[in-house]
Amino acid sequence: MDESKYLTILQMNDTHGYYDLHTEMFLENGKEQYRNAGGYARIAKLFKEARKKNPDGVLAFDNGDTFHGTYPVTETKGEILVPVMNALKFDAMTSHWEFAYGPGHLQKLTSKLAYPMLACNIYSKETDELAFLSHIITERKGLRIGVIGVAEHIVDKMMPAHFSAGVYFTLGTDEVQTIVKQLRKENAVDLIVVLSHFGFPQDVKLAEETEGLDVLLSSHTHNSLNEPVVINETIIIQSGCHGAHIGKLDVEVAEGKITDYKHELIEVSEKIPPVEEVQKMIDKAIEPYRKSLNTVIGRTRTDLNRYYQLESTTDNLLLQALMNTADTEVAFSNGWRYGAPIPAGPITMNDVWNIIPTNPPVSTVYMSGREMLEMLEENLENTFSADPYNQMGGYLKRCIGLKMYVKIENPKGLRIQNLFVGEEAIDEDRQYYVAFVTVQGVPDKYGSNRRNLDINAVDALAQYITRSGTVSSELIGTVRIV
Ligand SMILES: [Zn+2]
Repeated sequence: MDESKYLTILQMNDTHGYYDLHTEMFLENGKEQYRNAGGYARIAKLFKEARKKNPDGVLAFDNGDTFHGTYPVTETKGEILVPVMNALKFDAMTSHWEFAYGPGHLQKLTSKLAYPMLACNIYSKETDELAFLSHIITERKGLRIGVIGVAEHIVDKMMPAHFSAGVYFTLGTDEVQTIVKQLRKENAVDLIVVLSHFGFPQDVKLAEETEGLDVLLSSHTHNSLNEPVVINETIIIQSGCHGAHIGKLDVEVAEGKITDYKHELIEVSEKIPPVEEVQKMIDKAIEPYRKSLNTVIGRTRTDLNRYYQLESTTDNLLLQALMNTADTEVAFSNGWRYGAPIPAGPITMNDVWNIIPTNPPVSTVYMSGREMLEMLEENLENTFSADPYNQMGGYLKRCIGLKMYVKIENPKGLRIQNLFVGEEAIDEDRQYYVAFVTVQGVPDKYGSNRRNLDINAVDALAQYITRSGTVSSELIGTVRIV
């Protein structure tokens, strides 16, 4: 690789507010292994080293899902991370969960950043104008680099309504194609980078149907790609979640094309010395919360994690607590991808907040068997649609009290073969009493007598753990692929 000409592209994606070293799960030697990783001060060290190695040749991007996900970050609506992110010196970001505080707050938050939030697919409802900057052109080593941002488009389709107050989202694919043409023709750029929060299957399709993309930084689906995927001459990378990894892509550029590249998925290992200045910023910001977050409230006999598509031990514990609190026979929650694992041992309040940082009220609703089937079929399509552009959300909806047998390859609406509540086949006409959290658990259009109980999810879960003293949670085979 020509030392004078290569650029280094650094990727951080889906850190979900995990500001410090924390437990992560790695699949190694055929099993789940738990060890510490992550933290922005260690990421800062890796960025610093890359900049030392390639002065003036580094571009750093944040794919979003950054300013949300842990208690101190969510409690301050992302504010405590502003100086930290500025210290990391990104060139641009895009977003998804950042909308949890509403688009107005996100505008304010991003105005304090030293770099722009890019989204070519978010528009003001009032004016139909872009709500954020769609793209930028930046320069390194005499090369002109066009960077286009694509935010997660499901915000106004699947998530609570206040997330998208006053704005609407499009897929962004048409916009990307238009901007690429413009960047090539009118702006004579040497390299085009797409900074996307679309999701890996969606990004692969976008690369297939778009000419002229050089690098596509993918995120949202928490893929740890050890090697780039090259589609239609577009190099796609994605670098895990929770800041346990970052991506580093060196590219040699000549005559508007990548002529050579080298990729590394780097584990943000505990062994990496943190940048002290950044660590101090984090320690200071966390100090007011440290004591209460470190309070041990019980123990778990089994490892808890959220890394499986059909069900997870962490969510089975949450659902058990919801069902127990509301005294129902079924419970639903969203298939959130984010949330660090909790290995067997003590459970702290920090762990409880990591499981459900949005802390919604525990809700109940009456649903007919027919509605339950319809909701689950809809969710199966949103998760496994043959068209990636119709995949909308995280893992499969979490449920307990049910046994569902599914032909996953079947078309929309025709996947569930058998559904049991407890041991009985579902009765389409019967009303079932159901506990859930958020409209992502049970969308508004389903059920009747929807009610919020006087208890929020964090308290319900913490009380359940305290009452039990020691909990355990296994995979129970709620959903089976047949
Ligand atoms: Zn996301």
